[in-house]
Amino acid sequence: QVTDTLPREDPSSPSYDWFQTESSVTIVIYTKRKNINLASVMVDLQDDSLRAEVVINDHSYLIHIELSHEVQENFSVRVIENVGKVDVILQKRENIPWKCLGQPLEKHDSFIPKKDAGLYYRKCQLISKEDVTHDTRLFCLMLPPSTHLQVPVGHHVYLKLSVTGAEIVKPYTPVSESLLSDFKEPVLPPNKYIYFLIKIYPDGLFTPELDRLQIGDFVSVSSPEGNFKLSRLQEVEDLFLLAAGTGFTPMVNVLNYSLTHMSSLRKVKLMFFNKTEDDIIWRCQLEKLAFKDKRFDIEFVLSAPSSEWNGKRGHVSPALLSEFLQRSLENSRVFLCICGPTPFTDEGIRLLHDLNFDTEEIHGFTA
Ligand code: FAD
Ligand code: NAD
Repeated sequence: QVTDTLPREDPSSPSYDWFQTESSVTIVIYTKRKNINLASVMVDLQDDSLRAEVVINDHSYLIHIELSHEVQENFSVRVIENVGKVDVILQKRENIPWKCLGQPLEKHDSFIPKKDAGLYYRKCQLISKEDVTHDTRLFCLMLPPSTHLQVPVGHHVYLKLSVTGAEIVKPYTPVSESLLSDFKEPVLPPNKYIYFLIKIYPDGLFTPELDRLQIGDFVSVSSPEGNFKLSRLQEVEDLFLLAAGTGFTPMVNVLNYSLTHMSSLRKVKLMFFNKTEDDIIWRCQLEKLAFKDKRFDIEFVLSAPSSEWNGKRGHVSPALLSEFLQRSLENSRVFLCICGPTPFTDEGIRLLHDLNFDTEEIHGFTA
């Protein structure tokens, strides 16, 4: 066994090592923390340059190496959670012994605050595009075969396009393919497709360009970002989701997760604010889900309804919220998520405080 690691000054910093068999090379990252999972690890292999980033709390540890020999594009990633160990297992192209792992590249073996680490983008191919409403589409992108990337529930990525030489970047929240397919924990390898529900604004900067892409064209996708923590849902009995327009997107995976993974859950209720009936994303799926799973209730509120609309009307208001936010049991443990246009989210959070919900019981999805 050959090691490239030098003793580090701080013994709590992550470190790495490697070993080989006849056909494989395994890079072992010792994070020295326990709260690591497959979504904490991003690996990109481009030609022979390997980039493996592990997010450890608010820090990022990077392995960045020009490998000494060629490897196959498929590799596997394994996390041993109780010891915080990450294995990246590469398959050699030729079964010959390696004398060294390779040459260090920029920021190799660095452990820095995540905010200083910068975003890494990989090129993903547009696989399909489907109309969901008159102005919102479901985009499916395929990750490169040599990428391991999972987006944690409630996190977003940045999409980047080059338009006449200028780069445009905007954040988007991945969703599951549908609300009705069985939710799979985002740990099942290989996670090759990412879905997005994106509203096209005809006079917007980014979305018309995205909409112009042809199947097979490429979009760059960043590593995930976000501050939503699943641990906040622990022991929650009543989960209330307040979404407006495409502010629905972070609710998709929160909803899926709550119905499949929260044993404490008694009720999850979504209040979905839109301008008109035609603007409601996945209305039919939401209604089917509410029919299928009695723990889930949906309430639509329209701000510019047609005269035929019999449901709730208006903008977010004390009257709408106090009627909606009924606990299934007195003193049940609650959590609320809110997302939409900034004035909606700000006003909603203010009203929730007026209704005596604590800051710790509320997550506002913002930029
Ligand atoms: P923009 O150029 O930003 O314009 C949008 C609209 O605002 C247009 O109608 C434009 O005319 C108008 N406008 C622009 N500037 C002004 C101004 N100064 N005054 C008045 N009007 C103006 N969107 C989704 O569809 N799906 C998602 O999953 C999603 N996830 C997000 C996650 C996060 C964390 C955040 C912060 C945003 C998310 N968004 C999402 C919104 C997305 O990032 C973009 O803001 C959106 O797609 C609009 O981009 P655009 O460049 O096409 O439009
Ligand atoms: P929209 O214009 O279709 O409005 C949807 C509903 O939002 C309206 O019916 C109304 O009830 C409410 N609303 C709009 N403006 C309001 C105001 N000034 N005050 C109170 N309520 C208001 O919405 P859209 O075009 O789909 O926009 C969705 C917004 O959600 C975008 O601004 C997007 O950036 C944001 N978003 C944020 C995230 C995130 O994670 N931070 C994720 C997805 C979307």
